[in-house]
Amino acid sequence: MIDFRSDTLTRPTSAMLQAMHNAPTGDDVFAEDPSAVALQERCADLFGHEAALFCPSGTMTNQIAINVHVRPGDEVICDRLSHIYNYEGGGIARNSGASMRLLHGDRGRFTAAEAMAEINPADSHYSRTSLVCVEDTVNKGAGSVWEMQQLSELSQACKAHHLPLHLDGARCWNAMVQRHGNSVPDAAAWKAYGQLFDSISICFSKGLGAPVGSVVLGSKPFIEEAHRTRKVLGGGMRQIGGLTAACMHALDHELPRLSEDHRHAQLLAAALNNSDAIASVETVQTNIVIVEVANGESAEFFVAKAAEEGIACFAFGPTQVRFVTHRDLTLSVIEEACSRLAALK
Ligand SMILES: *Cc1c(COP(=O)(O)O)cnc(C)c1O
Repeated sequence: MIDFRSDTLTRPTSAMLQAMHNAPTGDDVFAEDPSAVALQERCADLFGHEAALFCPSGTMTNQIAINVHVRPGDEVICDRLSHIYNYEGGGIARNSGASMRLLHGDRGRFTAAEAMAEINPADSHYSRTSLVCVEDTVNKGAGSVWEMQQLSELSQACKAHHLPLHLDGARCWNAMVQRHGNSVPDAAAWKAYGQLFDSISICFSKGLGAPVGSVVLGSKPFIEEAHRTRKVLGGGMRQIGGLTAACMHALDHELPRLSEDHRHAQLLAAALNNSDAIASVETVQTNIVIVEVANGESAEFFVAKAAEEGIACFAFGPTQVRFVTHRDLTLSVIEEACSRLAALK
């Protein structure tokens, strides 16, 4: 099976397993795991934030950040396509008692004016608007990438309204590489990006190929609170050096490879455009391809048909199907998939 269901399906490489094996460890609840401390410091430094905290998942890093920013009864502004709204089990309501104000952006990206128009009046009839969240790349927006200009306008508007801005940057790696001509940007570019946000969640278990791991970034006092919330959610961990070493290895060795996934997604999109079974393909910018199936068929029907040809993909709506390229799908595998998919009726 050629498996395009997700970029989380990758297995750790033997070099990554070796790095995990060799990692020094200690009890992280005592802040004594040197590998975890090193990863946290490196991430904070990369994005120009004061501090960072390692967590088991991106859902936890997002939920912790939201929990630190908001009080029960508050409202969070985000796009209707966002992961925090669609795929975190209603966590914002459940963990933080907050409601959400949904924007209808362009494949998950919205303007500062659109966001600011949704701020509630400072009047006790209304919930208090206390956070804006963006996602980059937008998973449900077919891996769409924000323009730096748009992010910077949003960041300035949020500052002017004293509203914190959180980034769900599960795939910010792909966004950064795409924005910089499909190469890894320099240190100044990462910092300029990091400065736009009050808090950031990043994931190592997607395109970067680590088995587990996310990091939340912010100011020192913010991360101190995040630490408390992680504990309350049951996310305190012990000898995690092996896990954080996998993430460190991914930064060094997997980040430069992401542009390959982007090239492969373009090849895949071209093949899908040639298939009679596909009505349209959303614009591809990174490693996610979303298609609309043709002939009035359902997404499930298409997924079953593709499976008969040895291709696994994912129903992403009644008539939408998602394909994701990743490190375990090499160029020759992609080419084979393309020829099978183009022939689908
Ligand atoms: C995967 C993902 C997350 C985090 O998911 P976990 O499975 O909890 O690690 C958050 N946001 C986006 C956009 C994602 O794609």
